[in-house]
Amino acid sequence: MSKHGSGLSCFSRRNFLASAGSVPFAAMAGCTTVGNTVSHSEIVIPHQKVKVLAEADVVVCGGGTAGISAAYCAARHGAKVILLERWPSLGGMATNALVNIWHTSDREKQVIFGFVQEAVDRGSRFVHRMADFPKRPETHEFDSTGMRVVFDMMLKDAGVRVFCNLTAVESVVTDGCVQALLVDTKTGRKAIRGKIFIDATGDGDIAANAGVRFDFGRAADGRVQGMTMMFRLQGLDAARVKAHAGEAARVFGLMKKLRDEGKFPQFLEMAARSYLSSPRDSGVSYNMCPVAGNPLDEEELTRLSALGREQVYQYVDLWRKEMPGFENTDVNQMGFGLGIRESRRIHGLKTLDGQMVVKAVKQPDTIGHGFWMIDIHDPKGTGHTTWSDQKAEMMPPKGDSYHIPLGMCLNNQIPNLAVVGRCASSTHEAHASVRLQSHCMVMGQGVGTCAAMALSEGVSMAKVNIRDLQSKLRKDGVYLENVLQEGI
Ligand SMILES: Cc1cc2nc3c(=O)[nH]c(=O)nc-3n(C[C@H](O)[C@H](O)[C@H](O)COP(=O)(O)OP(=O)(O)OC[C@H]3O[C@@H](n4cnc5c(N)ncnc54)[C@H](O)[C@@H]3O)c2cc1C
Repeated sequence: MSKHGSGLSCFSRRNFLASAGSVPFAAMAGCTTVGNTVSHSEIVIPHQKVKVLAEADVVVCGGGTAGISAAYCAARHGAKVILLERWPSLGGMATNALVNIWHTSDREKQVIFGFVQEAVDRGSRFVHRMADFPKRPETHEFDSTGMRVVFDMMLKDAGVRVFCNLTAVESVVTDGCVQALLVDTKTGRKAIRGKIFIDATGDGDIAANAGVRFDFGRAADGRVQGMTMMFRLQGLDAARVKAHAGEAARVFGLMKKLRDEGKFPQFLEMAARSYLSSPRDSGVSYNMCPVAGNPLDEEELTRLSALGREQVYQYVDLWRKEMPGFENTDVNQMGFGLGIRESRRIHGLKTLDGQMVVKAVKQPDTIGHGFWMIDIHDPKGTGHTTWSDQKAEMMPPKGDSYHIPLGMCLNNQIPNLAVVGRCASSTHEAHASVRLQSHCMVMGQGVGTCAAMALSEGVSMAKVNIRDLQSKLRKDGVYLENVLQEGI
C-alpha cells in the first residue's frame, strides 16, 4: 500500500556513484530503469500501466467470514460479484487460524440466523450444535478444514467469482469514489474494477488506503488486543487423564511457577486449567497461547508468529513430561497464521460503543443482533482476558441483545465503499464484542444485500431505504426485533 518496506538494501544513486564509479547499480545488475528514482528511503515509480484482470458490480476484498457472507448475499440479490483473498483458502480466522466456534444465542434463545444458519445447515457434516444450546452464547463448533469446502461450494452456487492468492495493495480513487483495486499477483500487479467495493480485510486495508479515517488500539496507549496462536493436539489418552485428574492442579501450578520465574511462556490461565483437567481430542482448538504487538508491522508479525509456534511446543513438551495421559500427545495442527483480534477500526457513519453493547441498545438502521460480552485479551500479551472475569457489567443482559447498525459499515468520505467484519466502526471496547464471526457475518449479509439493492436502484448504499433493506433481510431469515422506528 502506501507504505513501502523500510529496510531497502539498495544503494542510493549518489552513494553508489561515490563508491563504485559511474556504473549505475541497476545497470550493473542487468536491469533497465524507466524513469524510476531510487533512494535509501523510497522508490518513486512515476507511471504505472496496470492490466485489468476482472471487473464486477461488487468487489469484496477479504475472504473471511464477513467477506464470504457479503459476497454470497450480494450475488444472491442479483449482483455480479468478485471476492478477493490473499491466502490460498477462504474462511479467514475461522479456517486458517483454527477459530472454530460460532455464537448465535443471547443465553436464552437463538438471535442470529440468516447467512449464519445457512452456513450451519449447508455445513452440517462439519458443524455440530453444542449440547447446552441455547443456554450459552457459544452454540456451534465446526471443523475448520471441512468449512473451507462448504464456503467454496456456497460461493460457487451463488455465482461469485473467487480469486485467492492475490493481495490488494492499493485503492484507486477518482472523483471521490473507488474505481478499482490494484492487486499483486504471481505475474505482477493487476487491477480489479467495480462499482461498489466492500472492505472485508479485517485490517481495513482498502478503506485506509482510500483515505478513510480510522482508529488503532485502545485510547490509553494505542495498543490492540493480544493475538493467539491456536493449536490442536493428537494422541491424548483421555481415560488416563481422567484417572489422574488430581495431577492437573499440580501441573497448572508448575506452569504458573515457571512462568513467574521467567522460565515458561505466558498462557491464558482459565483455558490452560480447563484443557488439563478435561481431556480434549484433536477436534478442539486450544485457545491459550498469547502474543502481543502490532499486526500491521510485517516484521513484528513474523517474529510474533514464530514466538507463538515456539510457545505451543513449550506447553506441549511440559505436558508430555508432567501430565499423565499426555505422554504421547503431540501437535496435530497449528494456525496457518496467528489469530488476530484487532487492528484498524474504520470510522463509520455510526460508531458502536461499549454502552451500546452492555445496555443492549436498539437502533433504527439495524441489520441484525449482537450479544457477546466485551471480551478484551490483554494488549500486553499476559494472556489475561476479561472473558475469564465474567463480570456482569461487561455483558448485555441475559436474554437481550444489541443492534448492529448499518451505519457502522458505511462512511461519510467514500459513498461506494463499505466495511464489514472486525474493521467496522467501533470503539476498542465495543469491538471486543462485535468482532465475533457471527456478528461479522451479520454485517456481511446486511451490507452485501444493501450493495445489490443500491445497484439495482441506482443510488448509493446510504440512500437505500432502510425499511426495504430490513424487510429483504427478514425474508432471508435474519432475526430483526425491536427496530426503532425513527431517527435514521
Ligand atoms: C484467537 C482468536 C479466537 C477467537 N475466538 C472466537 C470465537 O470463538 N468465536 C468467534 O466467533 N470469534 C472469535 N474470534 C474473533 C473472530 O475470529 C474474528 O474477529 C473474525 O474472524 C473476523 O472476521 P473477518 O472476516 O472480519 O476477518 P478475518 O477472518 O481476519 O478475514 C479477513 C480476510 O481478509 C484477507 N485479507 C486481508 N488483507 C487482505 C488484502 N490486502 N488482500 C486480500 N485479502 C486480504 C485475510 O487473508 C482474511 O482471509 C477469535 C479471534 C481470535 C484471533
